[in-house]
Amino acid sequence: MQTAIIPQQILKKHFGFENFRPLQEEIIEGVLQHKDTLVLMPTGGGKSVCFQVPALLLPNLTLVVSPLIALMKDQVDALQANGIAAAFLNSSMSEADQNVLLERVKENAIKLLYVSPEKLLALLPYFATQIPISLIAIDEAHCISAWGHDFRPEYTKLKQLKEVWPNVPIVALTATADKITRKDIMQQLALQEPAVFVASFDRPNLSLQVRFGVKKKKKMEEITSFIHARANECGIIYCLSRKATEEMATDLQVFGIAADFYHAGMSASDRSKIQDDFIHDRTKVICATIAFGMGIDKSNVRFVIHNSLPKNMEGYYQEIGRAGRDGLPSDTLLYYSLGDVMMLRSFIEESGQKELNLEKLNRMQQYAEAPICRRKILLAYFGETLAQACQNCDVCQAPRQVFDGTLLAQKALSALARTNQNVGVNVLIDILRGSHRKEIIENNYDRIKTFGAGKDKSFAEWQQLLLQMLNLGLVEMAYDDNYTLKITTFGNDILYGKRKIDLVQTEVKAAFVPKNPWGVKVYTEQNTEELLFEQLRASRRVLAEKENVPAYVIFSDATLKDIVAKKPQSLAQFIEVNGMGEHKVKKYGNTLLKELQRWQKEHGIKQPKGNTYKETLALLQQGFSIEDIALTRQLHESTIYSHLAQLFQTKEINDISKYYSESDLALVRKARAETGETKQLNPIYTHLQEAVPHHVIRLCLSVIEREEKDGDD
Ligand code: ADP
Ligand code: ZN
Repeated sequence: MQTAIIPQQILKKHFGFENFRPLQEEIIEGVLQHKDTLVLMPTGGGKSVCFQVPALLLPNLTLVVSPLIALMKDQVDALQANGIAAAFLNSSMSEADQNVLLERVKENAIKLLYVSPEKLLALLPYFATQIPISLIAIDEAHCISAWGHDFRPEYTKLKQLKEVWPNVPIVALTATADKITRKDIMQQLALQEPAVFVASFDRPNLSLQVRFGVKKKKKMEEITSFIHARANECGIIYCLSRKATEEMATDLQVFGIAADFYHAGMSASDRSKIQDDFIHDRTKVICATIAFGMGIDKSNVRFVIHNSLPKNMEGYYQEIGRAGRDGLPSDTLLYYSLGDVMMLRSFIEESGQKELNLEKLNRMQQYAEAPICRRKILLAYFGETLAQACQNCDVCQAPRQVFDGTLLAQKALSALARTNQNVGVNVLIDILRGSHRKEIIENNYDRIKTFGAGKDKSFAEWQQLLLQMLNLGLVEMAYDDNYTLKITTFGNDILYGKRKIDLVQTEVKAAFVPKNPWGVKVYTEQNTEELLFEQLRASRRVLAEKENVPAYVIFSDATLKDIVAKKPQSLAQFIEVNGMGEHKVKKYGNTLLKELQRWQKEHGIKQPKGNTYKETLALLQQGFSIEDIALTRQLHESTIYSHLAQLFQTKEINDISKYYSESDLALVRKARAETGETKQLNPIYTHLQEAVPHHVIRLCLSVIEREEKDGDD
């Protein structure tokens, strides 16, 4: 089917991608058939392509409504880097600039126009009467829902769009998948029988790891070595409080890590500077409260660390989702402690929607305590089932051992009962471990029968056991009574031997090393491919600085990695690289080629020999000039002309008439007849008194030869 081919060609030509990701093609087909569409895809899933490809196929303007100015600029930069006519319009621009832009829009010189909702609404009468519109895309569409986590009142006015343009298809996109938000979006935008696409929210490239009860000093050691092992990679560390972000950044700086902090208490200009430094790879690590990340499209964030337990799974998933948008392996690491849980509980106690939020925290805790594959739990939370364990989380790497924990639980429950259920976690552990702390002695807790009965377990292990007992419902925490522990009915059944309980082994393991070989490996001299990657990365940086865009706008890490894998030897071969559309090949191909050649020379690697004619042919077909081809292939132009002559002979090219004139051809024809020379160029050149250049003679001879051959057939 013809229509099925075209979007794919656009994808290749402009974005340099070989294949669509799941659902992208179906979505695009629908949009091209004027269907209203709702797209639910995780961050990094590839939503943009779903409206950018149709925009390039449709005759008139595509409006893209986007709530964040920073994001708008980023997306437009990325489109322009692919040679696509895109622009953004928002209130940060001067009136004069806006008018110039609108003039260009009116001339249909812009294919995609990004606008803030306010701006679009303000200009609605103008657009409605002056500009033909092909498609409207609503990015971050969950902002329309008051149920969502990022409600923006101005989004609700977007219902006017359907009134103004009843026949223009709307595609709404979001990474928030819950049902209420979904319904809200469709209703509020008045979508007409929308096609709804829900992509899998699985992000298999993210490794998942949770570390429990690691002491502060040890944690800093772990975090710094984690970061050091990822030389040259960027990441985010989420902290619970503003103060914690500042402390973390300072601590990391002591270890020589380029870290900075970011939180809502800073001035807007400070925040945007820090964000900018991160986007441009000048800062390696950002320590931030959850305020950070919304306006960031950076595709090469290689790790996300949570310094403490997030409030809920939605937030957690969104935060880790900021890693590895380019699809390359990236690592996530979550630290949590009982202290985190208590702190979050007390926040929730003081807030509205207490019950809902407590339930959400419980689910978060269950994830952190997961005895089975974490990804399974994560996806189950979002309503998806994963058939197989992922093998890319710490639980899959080191499956939990379950043991009969009845006796241990009884020790703890019995000690608790003998304090009249009047102690919290820490005191209970001290009793179990036989501590002679003042508080223990003063309260005569050292006389309890089970005093010291749990000596063989460390403090951290007991914390974990008690947390399991909490999660399993053997005990409850009385938040309104100094966080003391109370035994439940279920707990009493265990205590009195009526039931048994399984617990999960608690030994504190060394941090798991994710299977990701890319991030963890330390770059060594021997590993020349990694050196090539670094070299390409450095030259990307130079290009990015020259154009004043973030490096990932020039190429994603995934693209650089594909170059390392494919080692293209010509511009023609660069077209094969994932993420290099024609525009980028033309613009950057030569620079990259030189880097590759330099690397090959330095490491004594021979260039594989390709079919030289084919290379030239491929470049010709992409519309490169002879001069460009010669430059790229580091051959003389005369050689390229000889390829042309040869390709014409073998009928791989059928028209070379633009390289010579009819009078040249007549002259060469005559000279050929008069000299009897059919191959050598010089005799003809001299015969014509140097009036026709060598390369033209060569082409004309080729034309004549083919005429003769064709005449023979
Ligand atoms: P989202 O908006 O859903 O967060 P993006 O549209 O920014 O995701 O896409 C995420 C990344 O995936 C980008 O780096 C993009 O270039 C890449 N991408 C999108 N579609 C494809 C595809 N079909 N093949 C390869 N990479 C793709
Ligand atoms: Zn797993």
